[in-house]
Amino acid sequence: MRVELLTVGDELLLGDTVNGNAAWLGRRLADHGVDVTRSVVVGDELDVIVEAVEAALGRADAVITTGGLGPTYDDLTRDALAKAAGVALVRDAGLERRLRERVARAGRELRPMALRMADVPAGARILRNSAGSAPGLRVELPGGVVYALPGVPFEMRTIVDEVVLPELAETAGLPAVARRTLRTARMWESVVASRLAEVEAMDGVRLAYLPDPAEVKVRITVAGRDAAGRLAGVEARVRELLGDAVYGAEDESLDRVVHRLLAERSATVATAESLTGGLIGAELTAMPGSSATFAGGLVTYATDAKRDMLGVPADLLAAHGAVHPDVAAAMAAGARDALGATYGLAVTGVAGPEPQDGREVGTVYIGVAGPGKSPVVAAPRLPVPGAGPETRAVIRRMTVVHALELLRRVLLGLSGPDPEDPAREDREDPG
Ligand code: ATP
Ligand code: MG
Repeated sequence: MRVELLTVGDELLLGDTVNGNAAWLGRRLADHGVDVTRSVVVGDELDVIVEAVEAALGRADAVITTGGLGPTYDDLTRDALAKAAGVALVRDAGLERRLRERVARAGRELRPMALRMADVPAGARILRNSAGSAPGLRVELPGGVVYALPGVPFEMRTIVDEVVLPELAETAGLPAVARRTLRTARMWESVVASRLAEVEAMDGVRLAYLPDPAEVKVRITVAGRDAAGRLAGVEARVRELLGDAVYGAEDESLDRVVHRLLAERSATVATAESLTGGLIGAELTAMPGSSATFAGGLVTYATDAKRDMLGVPADLLAAHGAVHPDVAAAMAAGARDALGATYGLAVTGVAGPEPQDGREVGTVYIGVAGPGKSPVVAAPRLPVPGAGPETRAVIRRMTVVHALELLRRVLLGLSGPDPEDPAREDREDPG
């Protein structure tokens, strides 16, 4: 079964919108063993869409389009499909009724233009969308079948998972597939991949590495008979090989893991942030219920603020500057004490793009002060991405991840650095 993708919209051609739909569809279909042989982008132009659909069906068995199903006159996908099929657009009574009901519920007037959304090419099947208003369409053309989906990513994804993939799997007799994503922080992609070489070699198993700054997600796909049953064994082996670098699975983000670990211990954390300017606090307050575990944070950007608000000793700052492991430790203890929290988490470093106080860009110290014990300090080696305009954002994001990961490791009582991890805390104290 060969499938082509056709993403529609001037905004995609002009680069105003990044073509996330094509990326997501490509990945999702590949995961399910569907062969995507071409992906094309066209603008909002009737004849261009018609031509692209016909050309695609000349090569492939099915085409999936996204975008151009809305109510405005630049939404032309339905018209293009009618033209390609040589049929008229007919108003669907059920769609019209739902449209009118929705508009009435919202207390609005129905604009005549909106009724376009109830028009479908004669003979098309309507693909219900449990995630929102815009339905998809399935149209049979001489060369094959077209699934036309809305452009809004969330709605498009819902219809793909609920309707398109099950149908494609049935027509093409695709093998069963089971999938699991594990999440690691602080370990480089190349290290993760080399650890998992033996899993990669297993029959019917595919691994995909999805890197984010300072994180790598490992997606395991098992295809074939008893896929679900085999997946459990493969996952167990991956966890064994990666050890405590795995912090979670699926959509369990690092901030959620930290929140859970703190809650389990009836503990709280306070932050003191320099180069991240509050990003760690933002992360720790992202989920509902975070007030149980996040006491508060201080953004101590200026050196004097570190002294005045956190009690970092003035002679320490005078001797070494603000970017130093002892400063990170003192900041962490200061935040913990200032806010009466169980733990203090602090970061100080150089986000760039220029070096500071003789310290290179990417020099970062992270301190965690627990109850009673002396603070733990990490000095992750952050790879500096070519010192371009993105450097600062990437360094700041990586710092957030490393900080949350250090707190996680302290909370779990995990031992020190991983010898194969290039981000291990072995950098020489420059001060
Ligand atoms: P609507 O009924 O909401 O108008 P539509 O089918 O007409 O949906 P578009 O108008 O083309 O879809 O796009 C709606 C929104 O979906 C766009 O503003 C854009 O943010 C997003 N979008 C469209 N196509 C893509 C794409 N290929 N990748 C990522 N986002 C997209
Ligand atoms: Mg639209």
